[in-house]
Amino acid sequence: MYSLRLLLLLICAVLLAACGTTTSDQPAVEGKLNVVATTGQLGDTVRNIGGEAITVNALLGPGIDPHTYVATEGDIRLFQEANVIFYNGLHLEAQLDRVFEQIGERDQITIVAVGDQLDQAQLLSWEPENGFPHDPHIWNDVQLWKQVAEIVRDTLIAADPTNSATYSANATRYLAELDELHSYMLAQIERVPAERRVLVTAHDAFNYLGRAYGLEVAAVQGISTEAEASAADIQALVEVIVAREVPAIFVETTISPRTIEAVQAAVQSAGREVALGGALYSDALGASDSPAGTYIGMMRSNIDTIVAALS
Ligand SMILES: [Zn+2]
Repeated sequence: MYSLRLLLLLICAVLLAACGTTTSDQPAVEGKLNVVATTGQLGDTVRNIGGEAITVNALLGPGIDPHTYVATEGDIRLFQEANVIFYNGLHLEAQLDRVFEQIGERDQITIVAVGDQLDQAQLLSWEPENGFPHDPHIWNDVQLWKQVAEIVRDTLIAADPTNSATYSANATRYLAELDELHSYMLAQIERVPAERRVLVTAHDAFNYLGRAYGLEVAAVQGISTEAEASAADIQALVEVIVAREVPAIFVETTISPRTIEAVQAAVQSAGREVALGGALYSDALGASDSPAGTYIGMMRSNIDTIVAALS
């Protein structure tokens, strides 16, 4: 009797844990395409293009680190009930790769890793020697993300041809908004003197941003957060900050601020000052009711924070 009660308690605990992460919990609706996306930026893009024709759940809410996220039983259920699953791919969701492989083999679900669909010549390299050839943080270059929006559009049309006109029209409108965003990013960075365009963050999520908008990028941790930062990593960064007279460094919303605070303290020990320039949304959106709760809002927030602190 006791063991049964314990089992029920355990099941409840698992169910409660499963409710904690999705940014919205849209129940499946008869006749509508049921779509699941992993990251908030992908979920928001899918929502813009799918509009009223689909239901969409984004798995990874504000502050959730995709590199280390492990699927709950509730997530697996959500995946199995979906018609279409979009994930970033390129090993961003490192712990979910196997899950999607297994679901893909078993079920009639369209599963698309958007990063893997891009022309690889446009991607930055990561650790080819470890089997991860490309940096997965593709949303930080708006022109790359426009291609992702096109992949989303084409996937929805293939999965649900009766609504193809809706998906095409929504995508055309959204792509125009992304063009505006790209122009905004280019104009904002112009306000930072050229020699100050150095972006120092906790983990290496901003290399595409750096390439697209002309920032030099340095980080304590590598492209994934799976390994801990070392004292040598911090010291190497301190040397860059001192040599380049970097005025501000940035914490990230999906990473503990301790690493960047350690860098700030080490710079002080070296006899210099560096400010904390604010928090950047590195791998997740902000709260859904905040300006950074959409992909476009998150990108604008990041570039505004960077420009304000460096200029
Ligand atoms: Zn990352």
